[in-house]
Amino acid sequence: MENQKQHLKRKAVFLDRDGVLNVERGDYTWRTQDFEVCAGVPQALALLKEMGYLLLVVTNQAGITKGLYTKADVLACHQKLQDACGQLLDDLYMAPGHPSVSESLSRKPNSLMLERAISKYNLDPAACWLVGDQPRDLQAAAKCGISGVLVGLHPVGTHVHQEKDLLAAAQWIAGQTK
Ligand SMILES: [Mg+2]
Repeated sequence: MENQKQHLKRKAVFLDRDGVLNVERGDYTWRTQDFEVCAGVPQALALLKEMGYLLLVVTNQAGITKGLYTKADVLACHQKLQDACGQLLDDLYMAPGHPSVSESLSRKPNSLMLERAISKYNLDPAACWLVGDQPRDLQAAAKCGISGVLVGLHPVGTHVHQEKDLLAAAQWIAGQTK
């Protein structure tokens, strides 16, 4: 029975949002007119979907707790992203908290968003990936035993696999054996 449950476990690619799916502006992005989908993202998501991965967005949104915008604004941006990508994203997790207001177990580098998804979707962490553009994204993944790929030009140590963007990361993931 346990073997059967293990067999039924699914795999996912967790996706940070700003700097991975949409252009990082160096400020909070909450107006849909400021939300610009990165080049290659629709193709990247299609490739990952073809490989059988669930596609789950995990995004820190401290601007909600700071009162800069609302959850509805985040969902409006998410809908714009879905419309640009053929509705390929399976779920969206957001962490609204900020340490200046209250500590949050969801906010990356903490891992509660990922743990909730692992439970909800019966994921095998060893078969999952996370693509992020900041070390805190990969730290959250590591806490759950999920391999990370860093995208963008953020300088990091050699122990992290890095690609220039999500499409390159997806193509690299496609070449891995797990
Ligand atoms: Mg980011």
